Amino acid sequence: MKNLTVKIIEVKNALSKSRISEIDYTINPYFGCEFGCIYCYADFMTRFSKNYSVHFPGLKWGEFVGVKINIHEKLREEILKIESKIALFSDKRTRKPNIWLSIVTDPYQPIEKKFKLTRKCLEVLAEFQYPTGILTRSPLVMRDIDLFVGFEDLEIGITITTDNENIRKIFEPKAPSIKSRIKTLEVLKKNNIKTFAFVGPILPMDAKKLSNLLDGLVDYVLVDRMNYIWKTEKIYKANSLEFATRDEYFNAVAEEISRQFSSKGIEVEILF
Ligand code: SF4
Repeated sequence: MKNLTVKIIEVKNALSKSRISEIDYTINPYFGCEFGCIYCYADFMTRFSKNYSVHFPGLKWGEFVGVKINIHEKLREEILKIESKIALFSDKRTRKPNIWLSIVTDPYQPIEKKFKLTRKCLEVLAEFQYPTGILTRSPLVMRDIDLFVGFEDLEIGITITTDNENIRKIFEPKAPSIKSRIKTLEVLKKNNIKTFAFVGPILPMDAKKLSNLLDGLVDYVLVDRMNYIWKTEKIYKANSLEFATRDEYFNAVAEEISRQFSSKGIEVEILF
């Protein structure tokens, strides 16, 4: 990709403790994200980090990626430590934690094709059978279906924030098309993998149309609003989309999606 600064980074740890109650640890194989969605919250989470000031000072979100080249080796070391604790307390006090890829990067952004760090981490998690979750926007996730089918406990979420490709291009110009994400869910489902759609942040959309697109492809749906409107308000304004920044709009979309799926027995969790 043009204008992408790539640096190889050595890390000391692979697992980060999660602040999300249902998730124990997260793994972010890359620092930064090529998709560079304009609303991305990870942008300002990483901006004050040492990795940013040392390796990518002054670069904008989406223009840099740090490749955590040894992350899978560190993951193995950390998993072995957890395993020895589990062996020591061979009772219910210690269980295998669940682990998610990723929270502040997309684990299947284009650079993953070359470095395969997500795949290498998944190989470790599959070997030790850790409950694993994946969240991505990328059809590249299909490359690893051979690994997914070997997991006892795995779920994969595809983020889809609108049904409208023109809107997608405004807010996520470098991310994969909606059509390719729907196709990805279709293929994962055909391979009997547990899937969900993450509709977040809610962008301007036809909620009924999006629900129809997802019909039959997901085991559950998560819905979240746009949380950092100040970051994108100029874009909304420039495209006459201010109506979609209001609380009533987010509530109406969430309600419509809930209505569409609950009639089919699919659980919808609204995160706001
Ligand atoms: S894909 Fe996710 S991590 Fe990457 S820029 Fe978009 S929102 Fe941020």
